Amino acid sequence: MKAHDGMYIGGAWRPAAGQDTIAVVNPADEQVIGHVPAGTAQDVDDAVRAARAAFPGWAATPPTERAARIAALRDVLAARRGEIAETVTAELGSPPGLSQVVHAGVPVLVAGSYAELAATYAFEEKLGNSTVLLEPVGVVGAITPWNYPLHQIVAKVAPALAAGCTVVLKPAEDTPLVAQLFAEATEEAGLPGGVFNLVTGLGPVAGQALAEHEDVDMVSFTGSTAVGRQIGATAGAAVKRVALELGGKSANVILPGADLARAVNVGVANVMSNSGQTCSAWTRMLVDAERYEEAVALAAAAVAKYVPGERVGPLVNAKQQARVRGYIEKGVEEGARLVAGGPEAPREQGYYVRPTVFADVTPDMTVAREEIFGPVLCLLRYEDVDDALRIANDTVYGLAGAVWAADDAEAVAFARRMDTGQVDINGGRFNPLAPFGGYKLSGVGRELGPHGLAEYLQTKSLQF
Ligand code: NAP
Ligand code: MG
Repeated sequence: MKAHDGMYIGGAWRPAAGQDTIAVVNPADEQVIGHVPAGTAQDVDDAVRAARAAFPGWAATPPTERAARIAALRDVLAARRGEIAETVTAELGSPPGLSQVVHAGVPVLVAGSYAELAATYAFEEKLGNSTVLLEPVGVVGAITPWNYPLHQIVAKVAPALAAGCTVVLKPAEDTPLVAQLFAEATEEAGLPGGVFNLVTGLGPVAGQALAEHEDVDMVSFTGSTAVGRQIGATAGAAVKRVALELGGKSANVILPGADLARAVNVGVANVMSNSGQTCSAWTRMLVDAERYEEAVALAAAAVAKYVPGERVGPLVNAKQQARVRGYIEKGVEEGARLVAGGPEAPREQGYYVRPTVFADVTPDMTVAREEIFGPVLCLLRYEDVDDALRIANDTVYGLAGAVWAADDAEAVAFARRMDTGQVDINGGRFNPLAPFGGYKLSGVGRELGPHGLAEYLQTKSLQF
């Protein structure tokens, strides 16, 4: 795999300040596929200076011109789609089909949506005797995880650029190659130097230096709750804006009148996709007592199609593999009924985990409470609709969810009572314009579409 040995700062690849590197490993075969520099506080400082220097010019660039550059970026991402998919498969381990359609495909959609929004968004509004100007927040520090590595970059960078902000990105240490490819794409798209900057490195070093940097106006972070809390506290103390997307434990609620087979099959696919490494995955399936055993049998049959190394890839690294296997052991220990999968590794090589289904899961069990981030589905039984609602909301998280019912009206009535940021109604389709983000510990702020753009804007009111 192609890897740059420098940082992308101020529109050029520059040598890193330090000597340390990070080895990038293919989780499917555990082979090292490249090295990238491990950034230091010095690299972060250089990148923030470049972003600051570029900010006035980019903020003053007419939105239609910013839109044209984002459209060019979308076109480069579309043209390099094959290369992007191969890179994500190599560093994340996702199956080629998923890499093509989701990891390489969704960023094209999202970049396209922001090319359009930048051109059409009302950056000025009239309110009585005031004119309200919506101005960019400034220099944005973006810190992203590895699970949807390019999507999470584009979901931050595209709206920031549309708003007129400049960006310093610190991508996940496990997936830096697609981030380097993205930096190349920004250059090819003709973004002025310094508008987008990349510093690869470790979270507690480069990530923390970026989050703490005095001249960063906003931090946008996606990842674990533990790191998110820390970043939120740092941003709070510095009185700077922060957006946090911190994962979930979402419910897939199958109401008594729903098409059970469809709801279970779509639910299993949702959890197994990307080896379960999806913050919005519906990892708790809620089924009424009467149809519970039928649902368990359907889920076990559906998950059998997810063969490790074929339809389902490995987890991103050995640590995540060990963590997820630990959760499966914990589920067995706490009395959940294993109906598919188990803690043993399914292959000798690669960080694979067996796609696992637990039945008889009760809301107090660890597997029902904590984010597992692996191919593990829990089936919970409810007595009536109020019980289903209580179980669905009995979590510290609130990122996503699904409701299946006899008709949309019944599903919507239930969804209105759920404490969560996004709900799919009877198998609703992905919408790149719909705001994405969490209630409760799932985070602060929203990504995607016009709501995602608004995160990077601040208002200035002129009175007449
Ligand atoms: P993480 O540590 O929170 O990583 C997310 C990003 O934050 C990475 O770029 C990471 O760098 C960086 N980071 C780590 N420590 C930092 C610090 N002190 N200051 C600033 N940035 C820092 O998550 P992880 O360790 O990769 O995954 C652990 C768990 O987080 C998963 O099992 C899952 O439950 C959850 N997770 C959630 C999402 C989501 O989409 N919400 C995504 C990934 C993981 P490094 O790459 O160098 O660590
Ligand atoms: Mg980490």
